[in-house]
Amino acid sequence: MSRDQTPLTIAIDGPSGSGKSSVSKAVAGRLGVGYLDTGAMYRALTWWCLDQGVALTDEAAVVVAAEAIPLELSTDPEDQRVVVNGTDITADIRTTAISAEVSKVATNTGVRPILQQAQRDRMVAIADATGGVVAEGRDITTVVAPEALVRILLTASEDARLRRRSAEVHGSADEEAIAATRDQVLRRDRDDSAVSQFTVAADGVVTVDTSDLDFDESVEAVLAVVASIAGHAQPDAP
Ligand code: C5P
Repeated sequence: MSRDQTPLTIAIDGPSGSGKSSVSKAVAGRLGVGYLDTGAMYRALTWWCLDQGVALTDEAAVVVAAEAIPLELSTDPEDQRVVVNGTDITADIRTTAISAEVSKVATNTGVRPILQQAQRDRMVAIADATGGVVAEGRDITTVVAPEALVRILLTASEDARLRRRSAEVHGSADEEAIAATRDQVLRRDRDDSAVSQFTVAADGVVTVDTSDLDFDESVEAVLAVVASIAGHAQPDAP
C-alpha cells in the first residue's frame, strides 16, 4: 500500500478464549500488516513487577514500573517476541502464574492510561512501517483506537471459550481441565470487565461470533468484515 492511502487500522476486542490472538495474527499475516498484542503489554508489566519485587497491590509502585518498563515487542504476526530488559519472556508471560495475576495490573487505573498511550504510539509506528496494523485487546475499539478504520468485537459462547482455552493450556478439553481453566477465563474476564467493556459491541463496532466457526472460518469472517469496510474506505488507486 502506498503512503498516501488511509492506513489499514484494525481494532479487535474480545473476551478470553474468543480466538482473538490467533485470529488477529492470521488476519495481519494475510493482509501483510503489523500486529500489536496489547494483552502482552499487561502481561509483560506483570512479569516485570514480579521480577523486580514490586507488590502488585502497591498501585503507585506499579504505575512507576509501567512508566519505566524497558519493553521490546516484535510486530511481525508470524514471529512474536516479548523482551523486557534484555530477557526474552515470550513464553513466561503465558504461564498460569502470570495469567492469574495480570488482572491486578490491568485494573490499576493509574496504569491503564500509560499503557493505552503506549499502545496508540505503537499502532501509529506499526501502521507507518507496514501500511496498517491489527491491534487486539479489551479496549482497543472503545478507548485506545476508537477512530480505527475497522473495529470488531470477536465473541464466542462461554462453553466454546472454555473448551478452546482448556485445550490450549492443558492440551485437552476434559472436565478436569475445563474446571482448571475457569479461573483463567471466567474469573479473569469478570475482574477485567470492571475497567473495560468487551462483551457488547460499542456503536459502530461489528460483532463476529466464532462459537460455531473453526479457526479458518473465523479468519475468513474477520477478513470479510475488513473487506466490506476498508474496501469502500480506501481511496481509488491513481
Ligand atoms: O489478551 P490476554 O489474555 O493476553 O490479556 C491479558 C490481560 O491483559 C487481560 O486479562 C486483561 O487483564 C489485560 N488487558 C487489558 N486491556 C487490553 C488487553 C489486555 O486490560 N487492551
